[in-house]
Amino acid sequence: MRANPFARVHGRPTRADYDRLKSDAGALASEVEDITYEWSKSATDDYGLLADIIGTDEYYVLTDIDTYAIPNEPLSYDPAITNVTLTHERKRREEEWDLIRQSWFIRKGCLRGVVDNLRDALDEQFYSQLKHRLTAYRNVTPFQILNHLDDRWCPLDVQAKKELRRTYYTKWDADEHLTAFGKRLNDDQIVLVRSDVAIADEDKLQFYLEEIYDSNKFDKQDMLTWEKQPVATKTDFELTRQYFEAIIKATDSYDQNVGGGNAKRNTYESANQMAEYGDELREWIQQIASNGVTQATNTQAKDAKIATMEDEIRTLTATIAQLIANTTKNNENAKPNTTTGSNATRRPQMKKTRNMGAYCHSHGFHPVGDNHTSVICGWKKEGHKSEATWTNRLNGNTNWPTFKAVALSQHDHPAWKNKSAPTN
Ligand SMILES: [Zn+2]
Repeated sequence: MRANPFARVHGRPTRADYDRLKSDAGALASEVEDITYEWSKSATDDYGLLADIIGTDEYYVLTDIDTYAIPNEPLSYDPAITNVTLTHERKRREEEWDLIRQSWFIRKGCLRGVVDNLRDALDEQFYSQLKHRLTAYRNVTPFQILNHLDDRWCPLDVQAKKELRRTYYTKWDADEHLTAFGKRLNDDQIVLVRSDVAIADEDKLQFYLEEIYDSNKFDKQDMLTWEKQPVATKTDFELTRQYFEAIIKATDSYDQNVGGGNAKRNTYESANQMAEYGDELREWIQQIASNGVTQATNTQAKDAKIATMEDEIRTLTATIAQLIANTTKNNENAKPNTTTGSNATRRPQMKKTRNMGAYCHSHGFHPVGDNHTSVICGWKKEGHKSEATWTNRLNGNTNWPTFKAVALSQHDHPAWKNKSAPTN
């Protein structure tokens, strides 16, 4: 239990710190096994001691289990055993009672460990109000500490909600599989409802697509085919996910078939990204790739051939990489995927140019793409109004792109620089 300390919170905890501590504590406690509490399990799932961390109400919302009650310390002996209890009955009862006692101590040890972890993560001033005159923190529970933070130090106020909303839109990282990214957007959207933060489905979809565009993981053809999909597909989050996940899956199985690990996947992705430097080269690489897939399903005998093709791809990729290194003057996005720094600093500089000074009902001011306006919008959202303009927006999107969302080459554009969204 103590082997996994919680990340240290410096100074006053924020709402996000509170949520993180709570989820870390919940994760630890839910892994506890060998306990006999009826409330720790449903027919299908085992929640360990999660109820002790999040409390009755939230536990019920999460699990539908409404039987949680704080257990009392069991007596040292089963009170049901008396002088007249038959020997075999006594034997069974004693064994059961041992398990009950054992559960009690497991639970006690676990909760103590979680409390210690919480205290280690926090400066004392943020929980010292719980200190008992005689017993200090001996009898304080994780739930009490978390509840205290919730109440006293990080209440869910307007600022906290704003921050939660901002955190929701955390960039899609190259380390994160696309499937995991889509799932995160769904899961977090649901979780945030509990914090009274509503993320609209269409905002979720738009963010997802922005990240797709931004990732360079899909080539022009993928995107063109996407834009030709029926509106019903393009406006549905799950169908959209399916479309792009299928493409990623095809790439994944290519990697598997050529026995590729991460290094090879990156090689292939790099090759893909370099498409703009030579469509012919790209097509050739993809042809090799798909031949590789077909042939790999046949026999081992083809392995050598595939390996040769793989080598060719690698050589070719290295050549292209060198070419790019020589030709790229304005490398705005050299390290988009570092894992250090805040979300804001980790956010890569967007390279896609915008239609500066233009307006789109679905996408707001300076929409992405050279001709993008309310009329020419490839991503119209439900209720899109093509007649909406900068000054007559008809309740359209009022997104004003941030510094990182505007390509460096457009930073001096007079319609954007030092300005903000009109409010009238
Ligand atoms: Zn648009």
